[in-house]
Amino acid sequence: MSLESFQNKYELHVKPLSLFGIISAVKLLQRQIPKTQLKHESLFDTFLKSQKSSRIVYQKLISDKGERSLSCQEKWHKDISSTNETVDWRKVYQTSTACTRSSKLIDFNFRFLHRRLATNSYLQKIGIREDNNCIFCHNEKEDLMHLFWQCEKTTIFWQNLSLWLQSCQILTTENNLHLETALGLKPDSSNFKLQINFCCLLAKQHIWICRLRELHPTQNNFFIYLTHIHLLENKTPSNTKKWKPFLPSLNQVS
Ligand SMILES: [Zn+2]
Repeated sequence: MSLESFQNKYELHVKPLSLFGIISAVKLLQRQIPKTQLKHESLFDTFLKSQKSSRIVYQKLISDKGERSLSCQEKWHKDISSTNETVDWRKVYQTSTACTRSSKLIDFNFRFLHRRLATNSYLQKIGIREDNNCIFCHNEKEDLMHLFWQCEKTTIFWQNLSLWLQSCQILTTENNLHLETALGLKPDSSNFKLQINFCCLLAKQHIWICRLRELHPTQNNFFIYLTHIHLLENKTPSNTKKWKPFLPSLNQVS
């Protein structure tokens, strides 16, 4: 581009040396910008030309968030060997608010479903940890699936939780918690859905708290946690129905 055409196009009066500086800076930037960012270039043009620029930015932000959710969903599908048809994502995202008012639990489940929990495999990837070994068993790679379901320590915890739910007559004796229900990817829809989905949500959070404290998840510690949550939620009369089936066990603990 000549000096004259540059000045006419951008209505900027620069000296020849400044123009060479601008051209070489643009070339350098083009080399440095990753290919993924190049797709945003057309957005800049649209943004500059538009009279409703804030709407364009809003739509872009929404679509980016949508893409991120989609990639999380794809990763979960892969993890549980599932397809789109078998996961009702709308229901999955609504489950936590349907069974608790605790903002901490709702926030935790959001981070879990959006895969924003920093496991050791992630910490190793970003250079914070040297290894990706599981905090619980020290043998396997710690990713979300391993930590929350496949680890031998976690498996024992879920088995004990199933047995306890059976003893509360919330689960039938021939039923154990399945992977999808336990992780909240296929929420329970039985008569005890409120209790089962709530317990699974609390159990996931318990596993995560244990991981942060470098302790194994145990049924005993889970009961202590459940009792603590019961004391907090018991102040609201609308929660009575949810807690009723748990009360005989909780009374034994206290
Ligand atoms: Zn493990």
